[in-house]
Amino acid sequence: MGSGPLDDTRFVGYRRKLIEDIRARGIDDLETLQYFDMVPRHTFLPEGVWPRAYEDAPIPIGFGQTASQPSLQAYYLSFLSPKRHEKILEIGTGSGFLTALLALTSDRVYSVERVRELSVRARRALDGMGVKNVALLVGDGTIGWRKYQPFDVIVVSAASPSIPSALVDQLADGGRMLIPVGSKESQELVHVQKTGFLISEDIVKGAVSFVPLLGRFAWADGGG
Ligand code: SAH
Repeated sequence: MGSGPLDDTRFVGYRRKLIEDIRARGIDDLETLQYFDMVPRHTFLPEGVWPRAYEDAPIPIGFGQTASQPSLQAYYLSFLSPKRHEKILEIGTGSGFLTALLALTSDRVYSVERVRELSVRARRALDGMGVKNVALLVGDGTIGWRKYQPFDVIVVSAASPSIPSALVDQLADGGRMLIPVGSKESQELVHVQKTGFLISEDIVKGAVSFVPLLGRFAWADGGG
């Protein structure tokens, strides 16, 4: 599976269309759009869903999980606008597609996923792109990744009932985080910023829908 040239020309046209769809959603940050042009999204998805790989929609990736909607990931990127020297922590590697985009923006990306098989698949897809600046961990991201803290940017790709305090603790001074907070059905995107001892929380986008964050400081793992 996943054979053939990585940047399979069949998909170039679809990718251009996706970028147009993302622009139509109001994201016109050129850098962000360029990153989308550089990552072959289908290689991060199971082959069975390749025909839908460039739709602006969440796509099932197995294990009850979905790859997030591309325009929402574009929103994350353009909103956070990570700089090259900034250290990034991602919670919920999933397909690894956003991980790949983040690896283009910054030198050091750390990503935690609770489902081992997804992490393994993501690594394979990242390897396929020749990405070398990403460290992956299988575990509970609600406790962050202490070893590499503090992080300038934290990206949470799963919905949480509240903001896990470990993640706020692991933010650098001047650091920022985007996290969907709300019920399992619907959430608001919260921008958390740390300045010295000051923590601010602002809702920057309403009515988003992510798969649940399951772990010690979110929803109980294994509980429906
Ligand atoms: N950005 C990813 C999003 C995948 S969905 C993509 O586009 O593919 C969110 C992912 O978060 C799922 O893979 C899910 O297994 C994972 N997840 C849920 N709870 C988690 C936790 N506590 N720690 C780490 N990963 C978690």
